[in-house]
Amino acid sequence: MPTRPGIPSPNIAPYLGPVIDQSRSIEYRKLGARNLLNRLNGSQMPFGWTVNPYRGCQMACVYCYARHTHEFLGHADPAEFEQTIYVKQPDHRSILESLRRARASGLEVAIGTATDPYQPAEARFKITRQVLEVARQVPGLRVGITTKSPLVTRDLDLLCEIACQSRLWVNLSIVTLDLDLARKLEPRAPRPDLRLRAMSGLSSAGVATRLFVMPILPGLTDGDGTLEPLLEAARDAGSREIRWNVLFLRQGTRELFLKLIREEFPWLVDRYRALYARSAYVPQEYRDELERRIAAHAQAVGLDCCAREGVSVADQGPRSRQLALVW
Ligand code: SF4
Repeated sequence: MPTRPGIPSPNIAPYLGPVIDQSRSIEYRKLGARNLLNRLNGSQMPFGWTVNPYRGCQMACVYCYARHTHEFLGHADPAEFEQTIYVKQPDHRSILESLRRARASGLEVAIGTATDPYQPAEARFKITRQVLEVARQVPGLRVGITTKSPLVTRDLDLLCEIACQSRLWVNLSIVTLDLDLARKLEPRAPRPDLRLRAMSGLSSAGVATRLFVMPILPGLTDGDGTLEPLLEAARDAGSREIRWNVLFLRQGTRELFLKLIREEFPWLVDRYRALYARSAYVPQEYRDELERRIAAHAQAVGLDCCAREGVSVADQGPRSRQLALVW
């Protein structure tokens, strides 16, 4: 059902709860949910279950493809994605039952497919940690966690336990090592070097880590001079693999991102116009050329490499795909 600006969608409206905390310009609201784990039906994604403890994300990445999802919660202003954070309420028994079903299915439980499970809200509410505490009770799982935050190392005790009895990957998302560029693209995300340090700490403790270069931004982070040092740094921090994907510019993100391009990188305006003229995805020729270069860099530094494939239920589209928006 199409959303109307400022009106929550009818299937979400009953779950919207009151303000439970405030901090400077951020408001935290309760979000009821029947279950924190969602089962994907008939999806082409490389995982079968998703966990997103929060809706909205304070890290405020300009390229974030989840921004439009705040419209379903009744937020018409795109900035509210970073200012009004919804906190799901965990029910341990439901999580335990779902994790057992996930284990029986043999499919991966992906934590952080839409918003960051270690965004600043997690330091207060510890919802992700509560999910991991239950996961510790279910050996034999396949679990993937994706984050930009070194806060993930707070849970090293649990992660080590889970890694001993289940297949666990922690995916550290880093698009550039250039701090100035990162500040423009990801204004409130932790510095790239802090993410690398987290990767190193996890790897040293025996937790398998991967570098997620998602999204790669044409003209900004797709050069060999950006990619090669990034892959080398990840390899040195203990990453075993790299996964990557190219910027997906759907409505809700497109306007904000192209505004940044106009204001900060005006020489790229025509290039973006050409690349994203027909669709939210880059043309296949661009992607193929990038794939060749990344594969060569990965081989040179000794990392396994593949493009992140899969498609959200909402975004069935061309071959070039972005991480799913699945709740
Ligand atoms: S950290 Fe992830 S979820 Fe948060 S704003 Fe950035 S891209 Fe979006």
